[in-house]
Amino acid sequence: MDTPTPLVAGNWKMNGTSDQITEFKKLVQLLSGNSSAQCQVAICPPFTLIAALAAEGAESVHVGAQDCHAELSGAHTGDISAAMVADAGAKFIIVGHSERRADHEEGSELIRAKAQAVYKAGVTAIVCVGETESERDAGKTEDVVLGQLLISLPDDATSTNTVVGYEPVWAIGTGKTPTVADVAEIHTAIRGALVERFGDDGHMLRIIYGGSVKPSNAKELMTAENVDGALVGGASLKAQDFNGIIEAYRA
Ligand code: PEP
Repeated sequence: MDTPTPLVAGNWKMNGTSDQITEFKKLVQLLSGNSSAQCQVAICPPFTLIAALAAEGAESVHVGAQDCHAELSGAHTGDISAAMVADAGAKFIIVGHSERRADHEEGSELIRAKAQAVYKAGVTAIVCVGETESERDAGKTEDVVLGQLLISLPDDATSTNTVVGYEPVWAIGTGKTPTVADVAEIHTAIRGALVERFGDDGHMLRIIYGGSVKPSNAKELMTAENVDGALVGGASLKAQDFNGIIEAYRA
């Protein structure tokens, strides 16, 4: 059976002004200087840097966005649509990141509507799900994650238009990570839910892990069963560190 091409995506969050473009250029240089990685690579900068990064025309690094509105245009002052970021050069759009769910009270119904907008704009949605520490401690990880997934993913999700990002909320930016066995267990449960809902294509839908991935733990986490790449926050801000994570996909 075919296996999905892994994706290593960096999420710069609300970090970076034009100075940060230098790190993008360094990353492109590092990727061209090394033996080629067996994965797709993307950087999701703040909206303000999407066009500038896309203008670099790098073949080895795609550009993405961190969020979008659920409508493609209209009277929504201050919002940005999927069509706009696609026009600026984004190929991926993260939706449902736990910081959006927490800071802006975004629920799974809204995330699904955003994912649908991403499809309409012709780009790929990275749909994030993940449990909080108290949910994990209460033994509810699988229920919470599969519950979020069921509602957040549109019925027309495919392995081309969607990537699932599993990000335990308690592991984001904390330096804490689940064990490889824990990651494998939940990714395998997600895979089962995807295959049940989408048939064979569910095997090809990428499930990427996020939460304190760094060069020192990437190889181990990326070899867990049903892990098809990484979503990386802090360690994506420095080209050298991000390249160290991509290293997990070099022969
Ligand atoms: C994230 O915010 O998507 C993330 C995984 O952050 P970090 O790598 O910093 O934990």
